[in-house]
Amino acid sequence: MKKIIFIFFSVLLGHTEAFALNIFACEPEWAALAKEIAQDKADIYSATTATQDVHFIQARPSLIAQIRKADLVICSGADLEVGWLPLILRKAGSSKVQEGGDNLIYASYYIDTIEKPVRIDRADGDVHPDGNPHLHLNPYNLLKTAFVIAEKLAGIDPENTAFYHENEKTFRAVFWEHIKRWERKAKALNGASVITNHRNMSYLFDWLKIKTAGTLEPKPGIPATSKHLSELTETVRKNNVRFIAYAPFESPKPAQWLSGQTGVKAIVLPYTVGGNGQTKTLFDLFENSIDLMLQAMEK
Ligand SMILES: [Zn+2]
Repeated sequence: MKKIIFIFFSVLLGHTEAFALNIFACEPEWAALAKEIAQDKADIYSATTATQDVHFIQARPSLIAQIRKADLVICSGADLEVGWLPLILRKAGSSKVQEGGDNLIYASYYIDTIEKPVRIDRADGDVHPDGNPHLHLNPYNLLKTAFVIAEKLAGIDPENTAFYHENEKTFRAVFWEHIKRWERKAKALNGASVITNHRNMSYLFDWLKIKTAGTLEPKPGIPATSKHLSELTETVRKNNVRFIAYAPFESPKPAQWLSGQTGVKAIVLPYTVGGNGQTKTLFDLFENSIDLMLQAMEK
């Protein structure tokens, strides 16, 4: 019996030792990126899944409990999480992570956001004043954020500084090779016109030189209307739109309606890690998105 108890405690201690740090990621993509850098040195929690729209998350008690124990928080920023993150941070009252503090990474601070509005007017819908916050779909933005994560982890856990930087360097080298290969593979997509539900794929399209001819939403955050959709049938014809894309957490109905009217394929892109059965890693995310878009281009 004593032996069993001893083994039990060794396992327990071994576990706490392996997971020295707690990382709270707002979205699955940041959890996956943090894993590349921290590996077994951190217990990583993702506040949301690929089937949730991160604009609209409830400030649940479980999220407050998770962020309270976090040593590092990683989010997209640019107001993507403005509806819930400040609230759970306030309620958690953590001594380690605060708004504006060192242990809270907003990826948007470190990258050039696109689609910055020229004017801010409520009448334009749910506009993000700091630019488009769905920034993880440009793989170069992941490289920039990976470096920031390594720096922050080294600051929190200086003993393992070399480990974090080594992991970041390895990730950078491997991911870079893939980026170059993806760019060659996606050549046929350059210049293609598409329609999306919301502008949450813009960084992917911007990277691969795909043009957004229109959105199913008449304004950001406003669901499709029949008037707007019927106008889009014209947009599809005029711009030779090649496919209509939407995310796993969005209603398929407007895309399917427009597809039915125009004969242009409607596809669900994974959007983030876990967005479909083939997308288990950040590498899969880009591989699978490109495969799906190339397939949709085939007549
Ligand atoms: Zn958005």
